Amino acid sequence: MRPTSREYPTFVTHLECSLTGERYEAGQVHGLSKAGRPLLVRYDLDALGSQLQKEDLAPRDGGFWRYREFLPVTQSQNVVALGEVMTPLVPLSKMGEALGGHADSVIVKDEGRLPTGSFKARGLALAVAMAKELGLSHLAMPTNGNAGAAMAAYASRAGLRTTIFCPEDTPEVNVSEIALQGAEVYRVNGLINDCGKLVGDGKEAAGWFDVSTLKEPYRIEGKKTMGLELAEQLGWALPDVIFYPTGGGTGLIGMWKAFEELEAIGWIGAKRPRMVAVQAEGCAPIVKAFEDGEEHAPLWENAHTAAAGIRVPVAVGDFLILRAVRDSGGFAIAVSDEAIFNAQARVAQEEGLLLCPEGAATFAAYEQALATGQVSPSERAVLFNCATGLKYPMPPVHRTLDRHQPIDYAAFA
Ligand SMILES: *Cc1c(COP(=O)(O)O)cnc(C)c1O
Repeated sequence: MRPTSREYPTFVTHLECSLTGERYEAGQVHGLSKAGRPLLVRYDLDALGSQLQKEDLAPRDGGFWRYREFLPVTQSQNVVALGEVMTPLVPLSKMGEALGGHADSVIVKDEGRLPTGSFKARGLALAVAMAKELGLSHLAMPTNGNAGAAMAAYASRAGLRTTIFCPEDTPEVNVSEIALQGAEVYRVNGLINDCGKLVGDGKEAAGWFDVSTLKEPYRIEGKKTMGLELAEQLGWALPDVIFYPTGGGTGLIGMWKAFEELEAIGWIGAKRPRMVAVQAEGCAPIVKAFEDGEEHAPLWENAHTAAAGIRVPVAVGDFLILRAVRDSGGFAIAVSDEAIFNAQARVAQEEGLLLCPEGAATFAAYEQALATGQVSPSERAVLFNCATGLKYPMPPVHRTLDRHQPIDYAAFA
């Protein structure tokens, strides 16, 4: 069944401030709550649960639009689709066994297969669809690369205009893909939070809508589909532990919300995976706040890591990430860039799976957590690879062959 071809019932009741619980009306344009915190979309879950059965999902297309009843879009004409797929679960069988586990103990959910090559497609497809539904025409955001590419692609498809600001050291491929997919993109001499300030400051004069992470309510609903999809793929059971490369934390917060909603409609029980927030040593505000027992994470000075997707020095949803991690019995963990690139090379060479640096960080963290006993090899762990490794600079190859010289074929043996 094409998700765009028919109307689905919608169950949104209202929006709610994630900090104070204050209610906001659905069907209107919203940014942050009055308290300056993310708004969460709330649904009539009793009605949803009584009108939708697990079996109803089976004949639908594979992508995240199959979860329409859990999403806020009210009219099918506003759905923006680019051939989304259900992203595969790829077990790292050899490495899992070598680490003392079994063939299925460590599994990668490979989000690099989505349109624009990253899981940012999930959040931005929803943000763009809702922008269209609410009559917005010009969207702006700061990005380290993948979010901008996803917004550019989905907004162009929906006929909306986009302006995008990137830190100046954003890889060329990201800036180029954003531009080629129809956005007006600028390199800015600063970090992602500096780019975010430009978007905020320009709102009045430029008339754009701010689609920064968690500053509008719908990206999180898109990211929520990772949790719905993971549960469906595992037969409505959840893994023991989830390793998530955490920048703004949308995905971790979104999955946590998905599990809550699935339990409320009775599709899963009370058991939750331990949620592990993985960061880089050069930018680990959530890890520090977790270890200090704090509810909020102050700005991380001089943030640096080659894993750009998790180079986020301050997160508006900090307390939501920390709550989910703590409520789940999970933890937050930092890994070095050296460990990230070492993990990326080994997983590529031993398992044939090219992870992005952020995804490789989750494998490095998994190994580190096994070594400290925070995770046992008998548990089932799911690692999120959030983008295709192909979008990132890779180590150069210097080996050459001169076909005009005599060739020593025996040297290849
Ligand atoms: C954005 C991004 C992340 C971080 O995701 P959040 O949900 O914002 O924490 C991790 N990895 C990659 C590749 C990303 O693009």
